[in-house]
Amino acid sequence: MGPKKDHSHSWKDVLNVISRCPVCGSVYNTQKARLFAQKEKAQMIHFACENCQGNFIAMVMSMNHGLSTIGLVSDLDFEDAKNKITLPEITLDEVIGYHNDIQNNKIII
Ligand SMILES: [Zn+2]
Repeated sequence: MGPKKDHSHSWKDVLNVISRCPVCGSVYNTQKARLFAQKEKAQMIHFACENCQGNFIAMVMSMNHGLSTIGLVSDLDFEDAKNKITLPEITLDEVIGYHNDIQNNKIII
């Protein structure tokens, strides 16, 4: 393991990206976004839209070049999300490794 690099990205940076409700287009009150799970470089954030009452979950991954976000619409409220969603026991490096292997046809599914 080399020296640990701190790129000092915060999951709150993603609030600049996810600033509107994907369903009704209302601007979020980003103060209400809450982190509910965190593992290694991945973080899960829950949002609730005050306008349409929609619930949204975003998975934020800290990559070397910045943050990568996967957003999903959910019917889980914050407590449900916290209880039901857990991050997989693999690290981001492993995910990237699998991805490269698949692209290089090293893995036959
Ligand atoms: Zn909405």
